[in-house]
Amino acid sequence: MASPSTPQTGVAAADAFPDGTKDYKPLRGKQYDLKKPHITETPITLQNWYLHVNWLNTFFIIVVPAMGLVGAYFTPLQFNTAIFAVLFYFGSGLGITAGYHRLWAHSSYKATLPLRIFLAAMGAASVEGSARWWSHGHRAHHRYTDTEKDPYSVRKGLLYSHIGWMVMKQNPKRMGRTDISDLNEDPVVVWQHKNYLKCVLTMSLVFPTLFAGLLWGDFAGGFIYAGILRIFFVQQATFCVNSLAHWLGEQPFDDRNSPRDHVLTALVTLGEGYHNFHHEFPSDFRNAIIWYQYDPTKWFIWTMKQLGLAYDLKQFRQNEIEKGRVQQLQKKLDQKRATLDWGTPLEQLPVISWDDFVAESKNGKALVSIAGVIHDVTDFIKDHPGGKALISSAIGKDATAIFNGGVYLHSNAAHNLLSTMRVGVLRGGCEVEIWKRAQSENKDVSMLFDSAGKRIVRAGDQVTKVVQPTASADAA
Ligand SMILES: [Zn+2]
Ligand SMILES: [Zn+2]
Repeated sequence: MASPSTPQTGVAAADAFPDGTKDYKPLRGKQYDLKKPHITETPITLQNWYLHVNWLNTFFIIVVPAMGLVGAYFTPLQFNTAIFAVLFYFGSGLGITAGYHRLWAHSSYKATLPLRIFLAAMGAASVEGSARWWSHGHRAHHRYTDTEKDPYSVRKGLLYSHIGWMVMKQNPKRMGRTDISDLNEDPVVVWQHKNYLKCVLTMSLVFPTLFAGLLWGDFAGGFIYAGILRIFFVQQATFCVNSLAHWLGEQPFDDRNSPRDHVLTALVTLGEGYHNFHHEFPSDFRNAIIWYQYDPTKWFIWTMKQLGLAYDLKQFRQNEIEKGRVQQLQKKLDQKRATLDWGTPLEQLPVISWDDFVAESKNGKALVSIAGVIHDVTDFIKDHPGGKALISSAIGKDATAIFNGGVYLHSNAAHNLLSTMRVGVLRGGCEVEIWKRAQSENKDVSMLFDSAGKRIVRAGDQVTKVVQPTASADAA
């Protein structure tokens, strides 16, 4: 019996971990010896820098495109080939977004065998690794977003999240654990993974070369434009999901992590640009939830459903989506509220006796008592919208009734402004506060403090606001 604390030695050590995940077993290539220090654990120096570089990836994502650019200089672009290259760009891009991402990494819908074969073939044409490898990394990215265990954390820099994580060797011990046992049960995924190199060469280069060559005789154009350069554009576009989508745009659902929504990212990535939404609702088959937002991947999946090739499309209830949006709005509102001057909190004000209040008023300080709170209006008299005379007549007096309709029923803004002038609480006047609090409780005011612990003063709910007794003025 293996206890959870047993140290895991070697890749095939244990079947299950306390969190339910299983070991990632590479189905091909050599297994890592986890006991030996990995090259990434040694600092990069002038002598060893080339050991840190993942030369295979570098060749495919930097050297090959560079060769394609040179080839393009010598190869005229034919119209047919241009159209085909663009269509193949969208097709292979969908292999990543609709296939690798939304189908395999997130299981946001189910696909029939023909569709899965098509997506696996198109994904291979994008040259971004096997669906199995890609989904493994992507699930770790979602589980450990922005942390050390996130394989393409944007916290390590925009360039790192875009391409650096592939160009530089990665420490297999560092990447977060995640479960892909469901993918091991998909024969299409396993077959593509085991035969990855054959799939890639066939789909990314042989297919476009033969297609353009046999149909309209442009072998060279098919190879350069629909092959190499298209690979480059698809790769750069989909890499943007890891970089641009974590860097540019708004965060309408949660701003504690880096994912962001931006239409520009959506345009570049076949609709994967609503990434703040996506990280909040990852198993939703949509990225854009509004009909006019650009999400061709969603349209593709929807069309596949109409054709009977996709089913069980997952979608979060609008109610859940709106709750997240409202909470984020509330957070922004609280932050905005915290920057405003709402007056000294009542509990921090000194308690002043009636006699002291009257005495200080006679000594030249313009103090006014309203609802048991003393306000210093000295600097405000000249600005009083109702004129000097009316405000001066209230100095040294209890102006509760005058302020609340006796002379003028002051506006909500006036109560807000008044609160910034408060300097003390009248001894015995605290009764007013107790009464006010009871009044609030009767009115079922549930949210009195915001998420930052600051008091929320709603319109008409200021401490100085005292409602006139209903049957008094006329009867008197
Ligand atoms: Zn992300
Ligand atoms: Zn995702």
